[in-house]
Amino acid sequence: ATYYDNNTILYHNGSFLKAAELTMDLYSQSLHYGYSVFEGIRSYRTASGETRIFKATEHYERLERSAALVNMPYHWSVNQLIDATYETLSRNNLQDAYIRPLVYAPANMSFNVNTESYITIQVWEMQPFLGDKLLRVMGSSFQRPNPRGFRIEAKASGHYVNSILASQEAKAKGYDEALLNDINGFVAEGPGANIFFEKNGKLYTPPTGNILPGITRATIFELCGESGIEVEEKLFTTEDLKQADAAFFCGTAAEVVGWQSFDDVPMVKEWNDTISRKIQLAYKELVTEKITEPSTL
Ligand code: PMP
Repeated sequence: ATYYDNNTILYHNGSFLKAAELTMDLYSQSLHYGYSVFEGIRSYRTASGETRIFKATEHYERLERSAALVNMPYHWSVNQLIDATYETLSRNNLQDAYIRPLVYAPANMSFNVNTESYITIQVWEMQPFLGDKLLRVMGSSFQRPNPRGFRIEAKASGHYVNSILASQEAKAKGYDEALLNDINGFVAEGPGANIFFEKNGKLYTPPTGNILPGITRATIFELCGESGIEVEEKLFTTEDLKQADAAFFCGTAAEVVGWQSFDDVPMVKEWNDTISRKIQLAYKELVTEKITEPSTL
């Protein structure tokens, strides 16, 4: 994949700079110890042709929360960063984009708190994350990080070594994606997405505590509320998934992506016959600002 070329512009600490010319300090605490926090945001070309960042406020509030959870200095306002993001998109002529803000640390080989942090906002043309086809998902041999060992609700870079290991394992075994349990053996989430399953007309998803509380996950709750679909947070195991009518991953990049099978056991219902499929369509219409009547769900 190409993320930038000689013309790409990024935002860096208040300035707009050429991505190709920006350098990073190789003595940064972030690089050596995975000590940085980031966001994954999407912008869309809406039905009326405008550029719209989906849930920009929620994402920048989470970035600030992530920084606070790992004791990183943070001195940017939500509105300032939203403006900077629109400006970065515009300077790169992008509408359907993936947006990656990153807050990172200066040169520091100790474990001490820093007096400064830096921010970049990088944008690139959206490329399919998990694709449009139904996924063959594998129960991972990796668990999600221990929430007593990490600030699991922070979107911290170091946590993603776990995601990389799980995703690589699943792909090496011929699956599309991994599903990870928490340290107690209950289903937690995918490497970069939350999970829901559907049984007898109702949706279920793990509670917060061992997962990244996804903004897409919260959006699914809103969509269900508007259309009278029942959804419940509860702990469940991979055995429950083997009897599910449907299951899906959801996340900013993944959007809503249905499963074909879990550990080679097919989902009970055809994807097109499920409530989950209706949620998938409703999500797409929401982000592109097409008008939907909740009652048509
Ligand atoms: N869990 C993990 C581990 C993630 O990386 C992501 C993607 N940010 C999600 C869940 C979904 O979060 P969101 O809907 O906010 O993108």
